[in-house]
Amino acid sequence: MPKSDLVLLALDNPDILPLFERALAAASYQVAFARDRAALDKVLQETSPALLIISDKFKDASGIEISSNLLERFPTLPILLFATQDSPTFIKDALRVGVSDILTPPLRIDDIMRIVENSLKRAQRIGDWTRREVRRTTASLEKRINELQKLETIFTHIEDGVMILDSDNRILLMNPVVRRAFDLGQKEISGQNVLEVIAHPDLRSLLDSTSTNPLQFYEIGFEDGRVFNAQYTRIPDIGVAITMQDITYFKRIDQMKSDFVHTVSHDLRSPLTAILGYVDLLDRVGPLTDQQREFIQRVRISVHNITGLVNDLLDLGRIESGFEGQKEIVPLDGILNYTLDNLNNQIAAKKQHLHLDLAPHLPSLQGDPIHLRQMLDNLIGNSIKYTPEGGDISVSVEAKGEQVILRISDTGPGIPPADQPHIFDKFYRASNVAVAVPGSGLGLAIVKSIVDNHEGRIWVDSVIGQGTTFTVVLPAYRTEAVMARSS
Ligand code: ADP
Repeated sequence: MPKSDLVLLALDNPDILPLFERALAAASYQVAFARDRAALDKVLQETSPALLIISDKFKDASGIEISSNLLERFPTLPILLFATQDSPTFIKDALRVGVSDILTPPLRIDDIMRIVENSLKRAQRIGDWTRREVRRTTASLEKRINELQKLETIFTHIEDGVMILDSDNRILLMNPVVRRAFDLGQKEISGQNVLEVIAHPDLRSLLDSTSTNPLQFYEIGFEDGRVFNAQYTRIPDIGVAITMQDITYFKRIDQMKSDFVHTVSHDLRSPLTAILGYVDLLDRVGPLTDQQREFIQRVRISVHNITGLVNDLLDLGRIESGFEGQKEIVPLDGILNYTLDNLNNQIAAKKQHLHLDLAPHLPSLQGDPIHLRQMLDNLIGNSIKYTPEGGDISVSVEAKGEQVILRISDTGPGIPPADQPHIFDKFYRASNVAVAVPGSGLGLAIVKSIVDNHEGRIWVDSVIGQGTTFTVVLPAYRTEAVMARSS
């Protein structure tokens, strides 16, 4: 310990002051004096002494109280209290406020020396420990900050859009890709409800649908043609993460492919009509043998099948291109009855049982009646086609909130889980059906496009050997009258 440490004396007792001065000088400490409170504060402030010795009464104030105040401002300053009393309560009070030690008369020079030395040593040990702890904590904090900075850099530079919301859809984090996608600039948005900051209908549907729709993928489209594929993932104890990938390029390629298929199908239609026309004319231009007639019948069936396929392709192309037929206010139950009237023969032919469950007062939809009918034809037609003779087919429609929910269930073979994600793809036929069962694999692709065009959602629940349920959710068209009636 360097003996040049400064010891500050704030002692009221003139008789013992020379004793302290002598003791400290003998041990080569520097000594400073505070004659009143103001001087005490000033010296403490300006010289940072290594130790303060204060008497139990200093200028009519309690030495314990002064020490207590000073220790709040200088918590590491060792303070020795010179006391003329040594009652246990006094000593307890003094130690409680945090003075290092108490000096009571009679005092000898070496008593003073020993106590001063001990207090300084202890203060130094505490100082060393504090510095070490601060260094250690700072190092681990620096490491943490480093890691956080790395995470932030990744979060900022990653190609995908990422936003994290809490369970009430308030924004916790949002990276620049998302900001750019929704044109948010540098606006301060954290803590705000994401739907107030981003008024995008696709994002709203994504957040609304997550409770009812097990599908956690969604497309977010922009007026300038950009399309993002958004994924929704729940994060325990935090909320949700939405990641977005720019799929504009793939969408464009898909569009080109569709345009190509559309053109080819269109060009195929006229020659097919011509083939059928000439086939029909054959027996008018001369007698045909039975075998020739049979071959002609086969040609007719084949041309018919190809025409069906071409028509499906053209329909799909038209629906996908967003070409909207007439959107009208249509009652889904009316269209459903029409479809069922047409399919009744097929149901009867396979001795199947139809269960129809229509909730009362169903709201209407705003949609294209022809497309909606095609959707019902394809879904119910599939149920009839794939369900064996004698099976059950159930169709139900109900309204929930602002939505109309349609369910079509059957007791057919069920669709293997591995096929389920693909059944809405064009030309996909699942492994559960024999090749001999007629079909192009376009029916559900058409259904999906129609549902998309009506801002609805569709999904399948299916268990092998038990059956399949398709659920379609479509937005209801609610007039004041309907709302009044249902409330
Ligand atoms: P397809 O012309 O083959 O019927 P779809 O697009 O309508 O084409 O259906 C795609 C595939 O999904 C079908 O080939 C079949 O494997 C499966 N599928 C569709 N509906 C059902 C159903 N109700 N029950 C079992 N499988 C079905």
